[in-house]
Amino acid sequence: MLTTIIYRSHICKDISLHSLKDMVAAANLKNDHADVTGILLFNGTHFFQLLEGPEESVLSIYHHICQDKRHYNVVELLYDYAPARRFGKTGMELFDLREHDREEVLQTVLDKGTSKYQLIYNDRALQFFRTFVEATEKENYFEIPPAESWDFIPDDNARSTTAVVVDNAADCSFAFQPMIDPFAQKIISVEALLRTPCGNSPAAYFEGLTGKARYQADLDSKKIAFAMASALKLGEFSFSVNLLPMTLVMIPDAVNFLLREIQINGLVPEQITVEFTESEVISRIDDFTSSIRQLKAAGFSVAIDHFGAGFAGLSLLTQFQPDRIKINRELIKDVHKSGPRQAIIQAVIKCCASLEIAVSAVGVEKPEEWMWLESAGISQFQGHLFAIPCLSGISAVAWPEKKADL
Ligand code: C2E
Ligand code: MN
Ligand code: MN
Repeated sequence: MLTTIIYRSHICKDISLHSLKDMVAAANLKNDHADVTGILLFNGTHFFQLLEGPEESVLSIYHHICQDKRHYNVVELLYDYAPARRFGKTGMELFDLREHDREEVLQTVLDKGTSKYQLIYNDRALQFFRTFVEATEKENYFEIPPAESWDFIPDDNARSTTAVVVDNAADCSFAFQPMIDPFAQKIISVEALLRTPCGNSPAAYFEGLTGKARYQADLDSKKIAFAMASALKLGEFSFSVNLLPMTLVMIPDAVNFLLREIQINGLVPEQITVEFTESEVISRIDDFTSSIRQLKAAGFSVAIDHFGAGFAGLSLLTQFQPDRIKINRELIKDVHKSGPRQAIIQAVIKCCASLEIAVSAVGVEKPEEWMWLESAGISQFQGHLFAIPCLSGISAVAWPEKKADL
């Protein structure tokens, strides 16, 4: 199927315009062979390229382009299908925007088009061209340094606890993972993640539990979470626990149970955030919002987890506004390379800023993901890059330190 990819990238320093022309000539041989056509724009700093052809070929050429050392911060802007090529002449022309008059440059680009209709009507590819040529969205270009420009240096503040004995409590354990502000070198809070006694996942813990038993086990497990938090001397930190949204609906008196366990362990509700997964929240929003009222009245904070991964999206925020939104790995993964992920995360950030909702990113694994998110305005992170979840303890945090000039 005729497939289109558009990307934008930043030229490396020390690349001459002359060598660019050679590069295009070499690329043309390959493109011709693969039946890939398109157009390449250059504005002195950024490349903007449209590739079109059979899906496999376009993907394979794009993959090679991503590896090319002559540019960096390659961001995929569009991946789409079309009935015909927009720029179907053989080869890939290099179009230097600086050589043309500002007013006429877009028309000059379009004159190279070979498709009769697509470039006239509201074609998304055309809109991307217009935006690039007119440079109207430059504020969204975050040029991040290479991953190697940071060292991640573990501190020596790991802690663990072994013996947490809680009478007749659910048979479970917890792993703890800090949420940090890397530049402030500060732990913001610590999340308690449910585990089976031997350290298996929450899914393993809930396996076989159905109906009310599932919610009861979810609630009961928090007895252990609070006891462990207390044994780990988390008293000075905020920390968070996860709950199925329906746990508060299905178990009457759940909030009082939580309050009692918190008090027994010398904690206060004001230091605790309860996290709910978005997709589970929206199915019974009315019941859920009344539970939220109870939690808030008791002094807890509320976070929405996995934000953006469910169905409700931003419109969930018309129903109620949590104290925090946690953007999950599904959206974070390779955000530095993906136009759609960047746009969605920027929208979430903007929306949360208007509503004074804190935003954090979870599941950050790569330095580039972290750097992009920092540039976009997020400053609180959880992820393997900084600290992995640790069964019955907290692992050392690896704090980023900028290397001296490479
Ligand atoms: P969550 O609340 O979003 O928790 C973060 C999950 O991301 C954890 O998975 C954690 O191990 C994982 N994670 C953290 N950093 C990274 C990273 O850099 N890369 C990747 N790939 N993963 C990372 P975990 O512990 O398996 O928990 C999965 C989900 O289970 C949680 O997602 C939460 O929604 C749910 N859960 C955890 N504890 C409880 C609980 O006590 N009750 C209920 N109902 N659900 C829980
Ligand atoms: Mn969570
Ligand atoms: Mn998760």
